[in-house]
Amino acid sequence: MFCRCVQKFIISLFFLFVQISVFSQITEHYLRININNRSDFETLSRIVSVDKVTDDEVIAYANSNELEKLKKSNFKFTELEHPSVQAGKAITMAETIAEMVNWDRYPTYSVYNQLMLKFKTDYPNLCKLDTIGTSILNKNILALNITANVNVPQAKPEVLFSSTIHGNETTGWILCMRLADFLLSNYGVIDRITNMLDSISIFIAPNTNPDGTYHLNDNSISNARRNNYNGFDLNRNFPDPHLELIPNEETWQKETMIMMSYAETRNFILSINYHAGAELANYPWDAWTISQKKHADHNWYDQICRQYATLAQSNAPPWYFRDMNKGVAHGASWFSVAGGRQDYMNYWHHCREITLEVSENKMPQSENLPIYWNYNYEAMLTFIENVKYGIRGFVTNTDGKPLNAKITVVGHDADNSHVITNPQFGNYYRMIQPGTYTLIFESHGFDPQIISEVVALQNRTTILNVKMKESTSDAKRVNIYPNPAKTEITISISNLNGSANIEIYTITGQKIRVIQTLNDKQMFMLTELGITHSGIYLLRVITDDFVETTKLIVE
Ligand SMILES: [Zn+2]
Repeated sequence: MFCRCVQKFIISLFFLFVQISVFSQITEHYLRININNRSDFETLSRIVSVDKVTDDEVIAYANSNELEKLKKSNFKFTELEHPSVQAGKAITMAETIAEMVNWDRYPTYSVYNQLMLKFKTDYPNLCKLDTIGTSILNKNILALNITANVNVPQAKPEVLFSSTIHGNETTGWILCMRLADFLLSNYGVIDRITNMLDSISIFIAPNTNPDGTYHLNDNSISNARRNNYNGFDLNRNFPDPHLELIPNEETWQKETMIMMSYAETRNFILSINYHAGAELANYPWDAWTISQKKHADHNWYDQICRQYATLAQSNAPPWYFRDMNKGVAHGASWFSVAGGRQDYMNYWHHCREITLEVSENKMPQSENLPIYWNYNYEAMLTFIENVKYGIRGFVTNTDGKPLNAKITVVGHDADNSHVITNPQFGNYYRMIQPGTYTLIFESHGFDPQIISEVVALQNRTTILNVKMKESTSDAKRVNIYPNPAKTEITISISNLNGSANIEIYTITGQKIRVIQTLNDKQMFMLTELGITHSGIYLLRVITDDFVETTKLIVE
């Protein structure tokens, strides 16, 4: 065993060495590229990492390989001064924690670590610090968890704040740390914050690409880079819902895998990822334009982005947060991105994540950092509070044991927009626009439950707790055949005592007919059941002692 460990260690050292040495020559180029039309853009976005796009030009980053590919293409481009070069002139670093007191400096790597640790040591009952992984150059990727009684697992909705996946976009990094400081120092002081930490669990990962930020060395960010150490744009490196694989046959980078496993171990409901280089709130999908595929919660997203934009604007001078549609943009309508984290979190983790471009200046001069906090903190707090609204509750078995369940809003959810419970407590959260909905609760080994007429109101909470009944093979009492059906079906109900009501629903949750039967086996024409079109229907059989729902496919 010992030998094998040593061998494994040597092999990993070898791979680490290879990984570092192969990529150590990578530089990052900042380019202006001429385009003629949208299809040029699509081609280009597969070669370089697009930063901004207008009608006739694209501003993009490229590593050495990408630059070589670009040279071989027909695109005309010019190399620009890297954004960090200009910004670097007005950067002051804090070399001690004390120098961070006014939040008008950037921390050295050591001060960043000390600050994060200080949150935990100063507020041990409110704050935990996790090293969720380390970067290629072995820098800590840190995340705080802030909530009341943080050391006790609790059934609270989880909200994630993260920033600086692009290492030279540093505004949100400082905002995230200030958010942590503000929440911790105001618990028990400001009622709003006390209520927030009593009812919500907040996770804050201020810098998810430290190798990019501290590109030059640990004591300076003035040469910060967008990409990770290997020259990969981490926000193009996640599994993509559109392609269902990573773009450009790239390999998952270490920092990407760290975020993926972090998302896997948590139950994030709502999330915001800070970037810079523009001023707007951006929502899914990044992979699909509105005309290709709208997110099921498109209108809800538009509303929370508008809420953020309006609050940021009302706390700032008139020039702030005005890009695209007055500070709001749909992802792919701005420009499409493959392998972005926003789509990944939404599609694979059922987490409502938005991308927040917080300052035109990617790396504002240090003394301007406090103004961005003033512009944004009200919007940040209000963003968190969104997690309380909509439909929520617990899904348990009949004994109250929490279940791993899937909750689908019938006729509304699509492309993985359904939500799931946190299996530890069975709690779920379905933020949604005001309306009346039908929900299906499904859990492996349990009878599905349909609950209709569930009303969601603006900025209100609808509590819907569901107890699910275990289904055993002999407990299955309704049999419908043929299924798929064409013109008629037979419904057989075993051990029917008295009568049964059969409710027929469309897949959009509309109840189309209720019929009563006294027979344990009866044939019906589909038209008798109100079914006149092909599609998927739900038949809910209700008797004195059980309710069972069956999906019927009509061809
Ligand atoms: Zn960015």
